[in-house]
Amino acid sequence: MMGQLPPDQNALFYDFCLETHVPADHLLRRIDAFLDLDNLRRHLADFYSLTGRRSFNPELMIRMLLVGYCYGIRSERRLCEEAHLNLAYRWFCRLGLEGSVPDHSTFSNNRHGRFRDSDAFRHLFEGVVERAIAIGLVRGEGFAVDSSLIRADANYERCIPGSEFKTLDRETVSEVVQDYLDTLAIDGQTKLPTKLSLTDPHSRWAANRQGAADFCYATNYLIDTDYGVIVDVEATPANRAEEVASTRVMIERVEARFDITPQRLIGDTAYGTAPMLGWLVEDKAIDPHVPVWDKSRRKDDTFSVSDFRWDAEADAYHCPGGKTLKRNRGKSRTPRNGVTKDDTIIYRASPTDCRACAFKARCCPNTSIRKIARSIYEDARDVARRITQTPEYRQSACERKKVEMLFAHLKRILKLDRLRLRGLSGARDEFLLAATAQNLRRMAKLMAQPPPNRRMPTPA
Ligand code: SF4
Repeated sequence: MMGQLPPDQNALFYDFCLETHVPADHLLRRIDAFLDLDNLRRHLADFYSLTGRRSFNPELMIRMLLVGYCYGIRSERRLCEEAHLNLAYRWFCRLGLEGSVPDHSTFSNNRHGRFRDSDAFRHLFEGVVERAIAIGLVRGEGFAVDSSLIRADANYERCIPGSEFKTLDRETVSEVVQDYLDTLAIDGQTKLPTKLSLTDPHSRWAANRQGAADFCYATNYLIDTDYGVIVDVEATPANRAEEVASTRVMIERVEARFDITPQRLIGDTAYGTAPMLGWLVEDKAIDPHVPVWDKSRRKDDTFSVSDFRWDAEADAYHCPGGKTLKRNRGKSRTPRNGVTKDDTIIYRASPTDCRACAFKARCCPNTSIRKIARSIYEDARDVARRITQTPEYRQSACERKKVEMLFAHLKRILKLDRLRLRGLSGARDEFLLAATAQNLRRMAKLMAQPPPNRRMPTPA
């Protein structure tokens, strides 16, 4: 006999248990095993009054946000609807069958109010990293760094030339623009970008790898290469110099927070600038597995710097003609340290040597003498050059792909290709939550399918 659906669903009593309804191998159940929000509750206690009306539970807010970021639910309105309807989400948010889900405006007000002031999302992120360290997923031997551009919630139609920005009337502009004007006043910044958005002035006009330009922020990841756990994340405007500078912030923060300093750092050419390599090698004793940013190779068939031999003992270069290039040639009344504003020291050949030299046409055809600008970080650059010749460097080049894969996952699976919050603080909140979700998903996946020949520790 053909089965029939019951005519109505209004039974008076149900025999239903939410706990047994969520499968043992459900992603949220595995994530829940790694989540400990007791610390966060203690951290947030100071932000709540002991009297008055009971507030929206901060743990519920965090759990709902994690659901949203883990499943790529980007709209707060939709997240509230999904948390209401989806039984697994209800279980994860500790709502039971009858718990009420806040409406999206309450949710939004709380998220952008006291949560932002409390730094709760960084606390949450670091709590998850601490857990990953405790169960042996972060060895701290090798870290990799990279950044990726994420489009800001900025309207292209509402942008003006940077030069006009300071002439804006404070009374007529939005809060976010006022905030940016205050930042400029504090930093004493005089040089502004060519284009600035009036909807999100902290973002920067930049082109992504596909060549399309838009107002963007950069999410900067520092990952442990062993299991690909993100150990730190930093939001910056889309600007290469600021992205590279964030590496120092992240390495020092991980050192201060978790007492971990990597033995090697993997990065692409953008991180191979002389000051960065100098800081890594001389200040932090970290091996730079980074290609050296080098513009000294000449393309016109004349001698490049690499054709000259460096003599550290004599503090001089020896040229292909067998002569010496020295610093501080000539007499000076005042003592000179010889360091230029570009952090280089100039080594010069003698005019007498060059004038009589048979190689002059191949060495300095348009000048009377040959000069070489040596970076004050050249020893660190030499260390990086030597590392690029080792088999370990080839291995590091493969491991660098792990950060790129995390960015691909962030955009395709978690759907974070455009921000919903504005300002640098909005970008910071979104990147921290997304990185937390990625770490939790990674830990949950490793628990379910450990890599071959590795036994995964079980969560406590
Ligand atoms: S031109 Fe001067 S620096 Fe160049 S090879 Fe000759 S002597 Fe040396």
